[in-house]
Amino acid sequence: MTPTAATPTAATPTAATGTLSDTAAMRFSGVAKQFPDGTVALTDADLVVRPGDFVSVVGPSGCGKSTLLRIASGLDKASAGEVEINGRNVGYVFQDATLLAWRTVQANIELFCELEGVSKAERRKRAADAIALVGLSGFEKHLPHELSGGMRMRTSLARSLTLEPEIFLFDEPFGALDEITRERLNDELLKLFKARNFAGLFITHSVAEAVFLSTRVVVMSGRPGRIVAEIDVPFDYPRSPELRYTPEFAELSGEVSQHLRSVS
Ligand code: ADP
Repeated sequence: MTPTAATPTAATPTAATGTLSDTAAMRFSGVAKQFPDGTVALTDADLVVRPGDFVSVVGPSGCGKSTLLRIASGLDKASAGEVEINGRNVGYVFQDATLLAWRTVQANIELFCELEGVSKAERRKRAADAIALVGLSGFEKHLPHELSGGMRMRTSLARSLTLEPEIFLFDEPFGALDEITRERLNDELLKLFKARNFAGLFITHSVAEAVFLSTRVVVMSGRPGRIVAEIDVPFDYPRSPELRYTPEFAELSGEVSQHLRSVS
């Protein structure tokens, strides 16, 4: 395969150096993954994410969604196929906020910039912008144990935002949160998506979350995961929270659920 995104660790997402081709932000062509124990997690995955796309991936548990994301981030390598990443910086947000317990919110948010050697003045500025964007103003001096789950996730998001990513990978970031907090963070993530204009690839178990956030929803089959359906989401941005209660939203969510039922 051609080189995947050069993003070696979760703590230091850095510039991606994949092969560039036309307008794709990310392109997976015939990607497969077999682990050393023989488990085949993914097979023949073809997917294009363009600038301005927010693509959610849904599928049965264990179908290879996280594996696909880990390959995109460079944390894992495909066993076959090609992955192209066309973006200077790649952000990666996990289900676990992975904050350093002894650092304040501000210091956690500055961490990636610190590791990248960004000057103190510049990282202060980027952290202040990110803190305002995710709604953490006033909590800069708090330690992680003083935050709610939603606030920890906001901190994690803000930390990745400081790298000004052109591509943002999300591995079920809100899966552990209660529904109200998840919906609120979905609303805010959409604002970030529009404000920062990144291409997003988002893993989730929630059909409603996928439809609400995305320009397109991708359905994967059970393991070994293949992409079996791509459903365009036609709703304009900005999307209001009330979109969730419209018949059109229910109809599209029903369509995605039907695809999921047929592969589960
Ligand atoms: P999902 O995110 O869709 O729940 P994953 O991508 O985490 O699924 O995993 C896909 C499959 O690969 C699962 O069956 C999982 O057990 C297996 N798997 C994941 N990582 C490894 C590994 N390091 N070694 C062997 N099998 C793995």
